[in-house]
Amino acid sequence: MKRTTGQDRKKTSQWRLQTQLVRGGTYRSELGETNEAMFMSSGFAYDCAEDAAARFTGEQDGYTYSRLRNPTLAMFEDRMALIEGAEAARSTASGMAAVTAAMLSQVKAGDHVVSGRALFGSCRYVVETLLPRFGVETTLIDARDVTAWKEAVRPNTTAFFLETPANPTLDVVDLQAVSDIAHENDITVVVDNVFATPYLQKPMEMGADVVVYSATKHIDGQGRCLGGCVLSSESFLEETLLPFMRNTGPTLSPFNAWVLLKGLETLDMRVERMCNNAARVADALADLGVFTRVSYPGRKDFPQYDLAMKQMSMGGSVIALEVDGGREAAFRLLNALDIIDISNNVGDAKSLMTHPASTTHQSVAPEARLELGITEGMLRLSVGLEHPDDLIEDMIQAVERAVK
Ligand SMILES: *Cc1c(COP(=O)(O)O)cnc(C)c1O
Repeated sequence: MKRTTGQDRKKTSQWRLQTQLVRGGTYRSELGETNEAMFMSSGFAYDCAEDAAARFTGEQDGYTYSRLRNPTLAMFEDRMALIEGAEAARSTASGMAAVTAAMLSQVKAGDHVVSGRALFGSCRYVVETLLPRFGVETTLIDARDVTAWKEAVRPNTTAFFLETPANPTLDVVDLQAVSDIAHENDITVVVDNVFATPYLQKPMEMGADVVVYSATKHIDGQGRCLGGCVLSSESFLEETLLPFMRNTGPTLSPFNAWVLLKGLETLDMRVERMCNNAARVADALADLGVFTRVSYPGRKDFPQYDLAMKQMSMGGSVIALEVDGGREAAFRLLNALDIIDISNNVGDAKSLMTHPASTTHQSVAPEARLELGITEGMLRLSVGLEHPDDLIEDMIQAVERAVK
């Protein structure tokens, strides 16, 4: 494998984001292919037995087995680390594999984890149900309240976990303030940055230690494959994450890594267009006056507008809505949509709407859902790349048929 300039971290970290997204982490085989090659190989052969032994001790650089490392995955990981400004990155088979690896790799029985309670349903399962099964205590708090983080800290607290903006309520967490509390107490801060994307928000610049992504969302962003990524310091990766990942195997397929490399090439353009569309759609929906709630972090009436705009360069691609009339009215609205699909993904080129209480957050207890503001009338709209006027017209015709 020949190195290209894309492999020279010193050089590529000076590049602007757009150049990094297209060329960061790239290396070429001796054939000189312009596109990143897809290495669909489970293993790698050695010239001699001595080489095999040297690869396994780490004396010789190179690949051994794709559960441990694969060249296509390495290109995706190096590009992710570069755009996040992280020392190191490891890809995973899905976003949930990234969350689970980042958490399970660092805790042991007797530890205590503090987490925001507004989380994606599966993230909530990991911290609320899975960790306690292995003797790790968890405290769930209102992550918007900085003092709640401080008050939840115990002598055995080792990790904070949070999403900002959170799925689906869009609650925003003060990353700098929460990280400061963590570091005064030797606590590792893990941030799920899926809703903000690496284009809008850089949690590590505000103190986060570990950042996780579902690459399924905006990074692929075209509905093709699952993937995830954990970003951290070199020491967290080597000492904590890799021993867990190498031996448990939540490994990404080289095919999916290749798809995600292609996704990164256009990430900035897609996310920017989605945010502009979402802002237009949110304003139009608020003007309709039929929703009991239109939450969008980029609108001045968003309760945490100032904090959202301090931490993110744009308002994001997701809008939270609420209709009067509970589940029945919400389902009527979904069923009246013509362009926007009923689907629970986010960050896709296609606009998608879901009813969190019956889908993504169905596994969260009804009282816990209400505590989060996930009512029976709540809907989550992920705004895609269609023309915003078509999306607004689709919403208006659906509202006329279903709500008015
Ligand atoms: C979708 C999502 C995940 C899980 O990602 P998968 O790729 O579906 O496993 C985790 N966190 C958040 C905030 C998400 O939206």
